[in-house]
Amino acid sequence: MALQNVVIIGGGWAGYTLSRSLDDKRFQITVISPEPTSPYTPLLASAACGLFSFSLVGCWYRFTSYISVLTPLVQAEDSIRHKRRAVRLIQARVRDIDFEKKICSCNPAFPKLADQIFDVSYDSLIIAPGCETNTFNTPGVSENALFVRTVADAMAVRQRLLDILEMASLPNMTEVQQRNLLHIIVVGGGPTGVEITAEMYDLVHNDLIYLYPDLAGKISVAIHDVAAQILSVFDAKLAEYALSSFTHHDVEIKTASHITKVDNDTVYTKEDGAIKATGNRQVPLVDSLKLTKSARLPRIQTDYYLHPLRLDGTPISDVYAVGDAADITGGELPTTAEVACQKGEYVAKVLNTGRSDPFVYQQKMLVAYTGQHDGVIAGRKDWTGGAAWVAWRSKNLTWARSWRNKILIVTTWMLNYTFGKEIARA
Ligand SMILES: Cc1cc2nc3c(=O)[nH]c(=O)nc-3n(C[C@H](O)[C@H](O)[C@H](O)COP(=O)(O)OP(=O)(O)OC[C@H]3O[C@@H](n4cnc5c(N)ncnc54)[C@H](O)[C@@H]3O)c2cc1C
Repeated sequence: MALQNVVIIGGGWAGYTLSRSLDDKRFQITVISPEPTSPYTPLLASAACGLFSFSLVGCWYRFTSYISVLTPLVQAEDSIRHKRRAVRLIQARVRDIDFEKKICSCNPAFPKLADQIFDVSYDSLIIAPGCETNTFNTPGVSENALFVRTVADAMAVRQRLLDILEMASLPNMTEVQQRNLLHIIVVGGGPTGVEITAEMYDLVHNDLIYLYPDLAGKISVAIHDVAAQILSVFDAKLAEYALSSFTHHDVEIKTASHITKVDNDTVYTKEDGAIKATGNRQVPLVDSLKLTKSARLPRIQTDYYLHPLRLDGTPISDVYAVGDAADITGGELPTTAEVACQKGEYVAKVLNTGRSDPFVYQQKMLVAYTGQHDGVIAGRKDWTGGAAWVAWRSKNLTWARSWRNKILIVTTWMLNYTFGKEIARA
């Protein structure tokens, strides 16, 4: 019997989860994604700040010339292809979907071939292309700021951090120049901005300061957010605790701060100007689809069975829209990996079993780490302090998808604890 042809657009948290949960004996599973891997986004900030090594290649190569077996220590991404599961990857970008003919029109993801077009047909389609970073066209942001969305981004942040420390250590640097170089601005006071600030603070104060003793007291970090408070997803009491924890660590918090321009060494703000900040924006495919969308982001609107709604409000029964790109009409959920994974698992269960109850989201605990073993947790009970650090580190483990990576994460923590972080080893 011919297998039913399930096509998944996007290999992120939603698409990857689905590709691993669908019954590959019943379905021919095809993932169309411009990247062959799926990143662990919740681990990127920690990876950028040296909590995990991106790769052991450098040091192994010095001790052995056995380069063919070298693998990254903790991979912050997983391959979409799998040797024991029949998952087909098409490394391409979907440019349009014909919902009547059940065809996705695609461009190869390789610059040399990008003007070619080919079609992929489906019996069932899952739309999960996520979001992109929105700079709101703020001048200079794309050219001068660093983003944290992919493994390559996290590597660039780590490299920039090491570069500014070495630049500030040059003998001709004045103290003013050193302080200017070493002033780090994180834009966005949501969980990701808070986490990268905390990890950066720990890295600088617990590790790097021993390598750069002359720079002690000259490194500063500030968070800028357009909102009136940081961590607005938490209740006011926990957000207030996070604020006081940061202030205690000398992290400057600038709320209601509107960034108007960025050049190669300065961020300009205008307190009474148009509201501009980084955030999410839809990928071009979602913009172009003739479906019902929400007003703000905008995201594809679905019913409670995750079927996208046509412009007249009727659902498309053999299509699902999940992850950051979609939201349920009347039951809005945040753009998080938790939501993306639960929706991915839901669609896999519906297709595997043929049974479909409406989707219900199970809220898990929310954790924000604020540095120096402190943080906040919102769950059945609210917590602050060291418990948040333990919860944060435990969550790192639950995000890692393979046992191999879980074991490597724990091993890396032990190595960091015993010998210091790889990034800070002389
Ligand atoms: C640094 C960082 C930290 C985060 N930390 C957390 C956290 O701690 N907890 C949490 O719950 N969430 C966290 N998030 C949010 C979480 O990563 C997102 O909500 C999640 O990735 C959404 O999953 P998705 O599958 O919808 O999209 P994505 O994971 O973004 O994947 C979408 C995929 O679709 C591909 N794609 C785009 N357009 C096309 C197209 N036209 N054709 C084919 N493929 C396409 C993209 O290239 C991408 O591979 C974090 C995000 C970031 C950036």
